[in-house]
Amino acid sequence: MKPRRAAVFLSLVAALTLRAEEPKKAAAPAPPFAIRVTLLGTGNPRPSMSRFGPSILVEAATSPPTRILVDAGRGAALRLFSIGGRDLLAGIDLVLLTHLHSDHVVGLPDLWLTGWLFGRASPFSLKGPEGTAALMAHLEKAFEFDVRVRRDIDERLPGKGAEVDAREIPPETAVGISGVKISAFAVEHGPVKPAYGYRIEFAGKSVVLSGDTRYSENLVAHAKGCDVLVHEVVAPEAERRHAQVRDRAAIQRIIDHHTTPEDAGKVFAEVKPGLAVYSHIVPSPAVEKDLVAPTRRTYSGPLAVGYDLMSISIGERIAVEKRAAAVE
Ligand SMILES: [Zn+2]
Ligand SMILES: [Zn+2]
Repeated sequence: MKPRRAAVFLSLVAALTLRAEEPKKAAAPAPPFAIRVTLLGTGNPRPSMSRFGPSILVEAATSPPTRILVDAGRGAALRLFSIGGRDLLAGIDLVLLTHLHSDHVVGLPDLWLTGWLFGRASPFSLKGPEGTAALMAHLEKAFEFDVRVRRDIDERLPGKGAEVDAREIPPETAVGISGVKISAFAVEHGPVKPAYGYRIEFAGKSVVLSGDTRYSENLVAHAKGCDVLVHEVVAPEAERRHAQVRDRAAIQRIIDHHTTPEDAGKVFAEVKPGLAVYSHIVPSPAVEKDLVAPTRRTYSGPLAVGYDLMSISIGERIAVEKRAAAVE
C-alpha cells in the first residue's frame, strides 16, 4: 500500500475506533495477517463484565499458527473458549507473563487446567520474569488433588498435559518459537520489579506490548518502528473517583506506577507506531474523554481505545474489528 493510502486508511481506523464502547455491528472480515492481536481483557483488578482482566492473544501466521498469550488475567480462558472453542483453549503454545501482579496471573490455573481438560496433551508452557517458576510450582501444589484425580482415576487424561514448563528469562532476552521472535525488555512499574514488556515479530511485522509501566525510555527504545503498540494507561481524575482504595496517598502511588494519557502520548510520538492502542485501562470505567483528549495534547497519530475482543490484524495494512463469539 502506498504511504498516502496507508495514512488515509489509518486515520479512518482511528476515526472508527476512537471510542470507549465497542461497536454495535461487527466490521467486514479482516484481511490476511502476519500477526493478529486480540485483546481478551482490557481491564485491571476491578471486577468488570465489560473489561476482563489483562490478557492479550497474539497469533502469528506460521503453519500451523503460533498462539502466544501475554498475561492471563481474570476470564482469559472464558474469552479464548468463546472465540475459538476447545482448539484455542487447548492450543496456546506459550504464555508470556509481564509481571506477577494478581490481575495478570489470576486466570492461570483456569487456563492451565481447563486447557488440559479440553485437550492439551503437551506441558503448559510459560516464560516470564523471576518468580514465574515459584508461582507455577505453588499452583501445581495447590491443584495436586485435581490433577491426580483427573489423570489417574476419573477422566484419565494424559499426564503430560498437566505438566508445567515454566522458564524464567532475564530482561533484554530474545527467545524464538516456530520462527516468531519474542524480545523481553524491562519496563518501569514503580517498585514492582521485575516488570517486562514484549516485542513480538513475524514476517517483517511487529507488535509491542507495554505490560504495566509508567513512562519508560527503555520501552520507547524497544518499540521504535513497530506496527502496533499496545500500551497501558491510567486516567488520574477517573482513578481518584473509582479507585478500590480510599486512601489518597495510596491512590497517588497507583497513579505514579502507571502511564497518564499525556505521557503515553509522548511515548507514541517518539515511537510513531502504525497504530497505538490502549489496553489495561485504569480505572475500567474511564471513558473516551478521560483518555483521548489528554493524549491529543502530546500525540496526533493513529490511536484506538481498546475494548474486550478488539482484534488488530497486521498484514499489508492494519485492520481493526471485533472478534465474534464462536461458542456460547
Ligand atoms: Zn496490572
Ligand atoms: Zn501491575
